[in-house]
Amino acid sequence: MKTRSVFKVAVALVFVAVLMTPIQSSCQPCCVSAKVLPEATALSDSALTVAPAVGTGENFSIIWITDTQYLAERYPTYFDSLCRWIVNNVDKYNVQMVIHTGDIVETEGNQTQWVDANSSISRFLDAGIPYCWDAGNHDYNQTCWIGNQYAAFNPAALQAKPYWIGSYGDGISTAVHFTASDMDFLIVNLAFNADDAALTWTNNLLDTHPESHAIVATHFYVNRTSGYESWAMNLRRTVLATHESVFLTLSGHVYPLVHSGIRTQVGDRHELVFNRQEKDNELGSASLRILTFDTVHNVIDVKTFLLYANTFMTDEDNQFTLSTNFWNAAAVNENTEIPEFPSVIAAVILLTLCTAATVFWRKTRGATATPLSKVS
Ligand SMILES: [Zn+2]
Repeated sequence: MKTRSVFKVAVALVFVAVLMTPIQSSCQPCCVSAKVLPEATALSDSALTVAPAVGTGENFSIIWITDTQYLAERYPTYFDSLCRWIVNNVDKYNVQMVIHTGDIVETEGNQTQWVDANSSISRFLDAGIPYCWDAGNHDYNQTCWIGNQYAAFNPAALQAKPYWIGSYGDGISTAVHFTASDMDFLIVNLAFNADDAALTWTNNLLDTHPESHAIVATHFYVNRTSGYESWAMNLRRTVLATHESVFLTLSGHVYPLVHSGIRTQVGDRHELVFNRQEKDNELGSASLRILTFDTVHNVIDVKTFLLYANTFMTDEDNQFTLSTNFWNAAAVNENTEIPEFPSVIAAVILLTLCTAATVFWRKTRGATATPLSKVS
């Protein structure tokens, strides 16, 4: 009797625990991985030595840099060279926007690093080149954000820029826009683990620019195995899944497990990860991605340039072409693509426990049960 009661209580506790386990908190990358795209068609070798096919029509480019923290800490001249290269190639690639997805510096309160970062990024400010940024986990914390003390990261310094929309948290998240090829593009660049109010700010921006083709950039979104942590899942549910206009996400922070760059797709929304910070004696972030938009043929050509090696990367993870309508028409179905394996696992565990309990009950009852009439 006593053994049976203890067992029943244990089963009940396990049952309750399984039911109360939040799906998100138990999500592992394998459970929520977005579809990894098949290998992209590599461009021809001859294409590597020449500029992407821009300038002949409406093509234009976005340049993406990220995780420059080691450059700010140890290689400031490379940080500066990276920005100078972009300035010098604005016309060649018809650059409409430069996006930095955070971890600008290594140490959020280190003024020397911010001075160097500001000196480099100010080249965009001074040259009138549109740019935006977000604060990564190395750039700020709940009690420290000093980036706004430097002009290149101070929202007030950009207020009058035609591409500037605004910022959240005094510059830890930023929003910009531009028009190219007769299309309006909105870019919201969200800080690492941006709070709910920042997500509301993002939703408001997307709602008030309903016809803009939107890119959501943020420091950390897709993880190193093409999955999503809890903050990213929340962003997917509350922002991305409710706005068909978001056709592209850009994020860094993680160093992908296998590749130096990974890409996933959710509905018609492409999701790219780029971060080479640990490569080549931690000089790897002295590199950039060039996303060249061809709105006539509905493609984005992606190239990766290593500044310190003065060469383009030619492998399929760093040079590829995305097909896109610059819109995520499948957004309404987005959440149905997330496998909810934890629920399935919970059901299997529950079924197993119930079966085991039944077997145990019958065996125990047969061997030791005392007739109820004799219990006192
Ligand atoms: Zn980071």
